[in-house]
Amino acid sequence: MTFRRPGEHVLVRQLFRGRLWNVTPGIVARDGPELTAVWLPPGTAKAATGDLLGDWALGDRIWKRRHGILRLTRPGDRYSLLHFWHDDGSFQAWYVNLEQPHRRSAAGFDFEDELLDIWVEPDGKWRRRDEDEVEAAVAAGVYTGERAAEIRREGERVLEAEPWPSGWEDWRPDPGWQPPQQQLPPGWDALESQKL
Ligand code: MG
Repeated sequence: MTFRRPGEHVLVRQLFRGRLWNVTPGIVARDGPELTAVWLPPGTAKAATGDLLGDWALGDRIWKRRHGILRLTRPGDRYSLLHFWHDDGSFQAWYVNLEQPHRRSAAGFDFEDELLDIWVEPDGKWRRRDEDEVEAAVAAGVYTGERAAEIRREGERVLEAEPWPSGWEDWRPDPGWQPPQQQLPPGWDALESQKL
């Protein structure tokens, strides 16, 4: 397997029901057999507008979070651990994004989102987010009740494992890194048949 180098530009593409719904330029902070860390800097992204359980279109979105977001993903895990910072640079929270294991693509990294998220404050207080979306997906027949239950169980497993702090809370991007272009590169929306 070829790993990506720190500073390399990639696209982090989030899919739902096999379709793109969020495409964000990222910069690789670390990539190896045990961990992939990608920083999503402020800038232009594509995001869905419309109904994720029905139809949607992708439009431009300006991603403004001053310090960006750092995504840590371990191969095979069914979640990524996102890191958020306040505008003043202090650490704000972890965010467990439940998702299918990452796939490597020509553009970067793709994953199928599993809707449920958990926001975890530095003092360990947590709350689930988007439980209503999981319910709605079941009601719409997009998820079976069994799949929804499995997603919730995975959330419970992560809460039990407490994979924080990660050691990346004081991480900062290399000031020498080139920022991504304003426009996404050609092929940003091409879905290929993918292998791990
Ligand atoms: Mg999510």
